[in-house]
Amino acid sequence: MSDETPVCSAKGCRADAVWVLAWNNPKLHTPERRKTWLACDEHREHLSQFLGVRGFLKDVVPLTEWESARTG
Ligand SMILES: [Zn+2]
Repeated sequence: MSDETPVCSAKGCRADAVWVLAWNNPKLHTPERRKTWLACDEHREHLSQFLGVRGFLKDVVPLTEWESARTG
């Protein structure tokens, strides 16, 4: 196994990531650019809110969907 299991981006959380939060900070990034955070089920809400109140959040997709979209 060379693949690392993606882990939740929440501070101190080591749970497997289930969600991808795609976001963009218009002050730092071009509009097409997507930064990503990973989230477990428990932290999806929390992290979404963090980005949402700043107006950064663009998309929340299941990790499996995100990966299959990237690899085709
Ligand atoms: Zn978590």
